Amino acid sequence: MNDRITVTSPLLPNLDEFNEMLKEIWASKWITNNGQFHKRLEHALAEYLKVPYISLFTNGTLPLLTALQALRITGEVITTPYSFVATTHSIWWNGCRPVFVDIEEKTCGIDPEKIEAAITPKTTAIMPVHCYGKPVNMDAIQAIADKYGLKVIYDAAHAFGVEVNGESVLNRGDMSTLSFHATKVYNTLEGGALVMHDEQTKKRIDYLKNFGFAGETEVVAPGINSKVDEVRAAYGLLNLKQVDAAIEKRHQVAIKYRDALRNVPGIRFFDDMPGVRHNYSYFPIFINAEEYGKTRDQLYFEMREKNVLGRRYFYPLISTFSTYRGLPSAAPENLPVATRIANEVICLPMHHELSEEDLNRVLELIVK
Ligand SMILES: *Cc1c(COP(=O)(O)O)cnc(C)c1O
Repeated sequence: MNDRITVTSPLLPNLDEFNEMLKEIWASKWITNNGQFHKRLEHALAEYLKVPYISLFTNGTLPLLTALQALRITGEVITTPYSFVATTHSIWWNGCRPVFVDIEEKTCGIDPEKIEAAITPKTTAIMPVHCYGKPVNMDAIQAIADKYGLKVIYDAAHAFGVEVNGESVLNRGDMSTLSFHATKVYNTLEGGALVMHDEQTKKRIDYLKNFGFAGETEVVAPGINSKVDEVRAAYGLLNLKQVDAAIEKRHQVAIKYRDALRNVPGIRFFDDMPGVRHNYSYFPIFINAEEYGKTRDQLYFEMREKNVLGRRYFYPLISTFSTYRGLPSAAPENLPVATRIANEVICLPMHHELSEEDLNRVLELIVK
């Protein structure tokens, strides 16, 4: 018997419905290059996410790379060390230098108050992350960007469907990226997207993800291949129908965790933010070892021994990896909050299939 409780579980479409769509694809013999399902998924996602334009990608890393290319970002890019490595890698792959700025405790996103001090004449962009789907302070970030003439590219890989006062967070900054990886709230197996605000930019992004082709014989840029095939687009259409129900299930899990953990000394977690539609993509808890009586790693490995698999997202910090640790901004003294939080965090199991019994098993290990 498999009694393992994993941190996540992929949202999977109904297999019979998927099969019907596969039959259509087989009959059409149109399997990739902007086919019917691809077009339908772009429309459906734009509508669901309340964004004017979206372009599908084959994963969530390529839209990061492509956004920086499209905006011709050079020099230095200010970013957060508290994220998945792809955020910083995309800056490096564009030949730019990442400059790490510390995070704020209340969102785990970049601290707007510390951004200005990191700006130099070489700075061209800011790349924040809506970590765990919690919106960063976008007004403050945009004000700095406007003052210094910087672009803002949001890594919104965690922020599928997240809204502030009824407005999608994806409509802010110059562009936002999404990941539709199997571990995310909404998946297309692998996949991702770039959100932009005008038709011309959408056109240009579509050139860039198709080798730079602007027509049969014209190539306007050194583009890349990130075209989504029909099979994945069909899968994505089916998953979109059930994502709201999955988010509601996650919401119920969050409520149960919060009720059980509210009065446990030494454990901190996030409550909902006012005016925000959350997607409950992760449920991070933060352990204060002194108050809780054991360290994060003690609890993490105890849970693992009992087949309850949390994840230490985001530990270690990106700034500690070999590529980046020599950068002046990577010094732990520059990143005190991120450094502490990376040592306190465990993301608890969070997905649409967790049963009451599963949740009790998780909580028994944490609540003493
Ligand atoms: C998942 C993720 C990515 C990368 O997405 P892939 O689809 O795995 O390429 C980028 N940034 C963040 C913050 C992520 O969590």
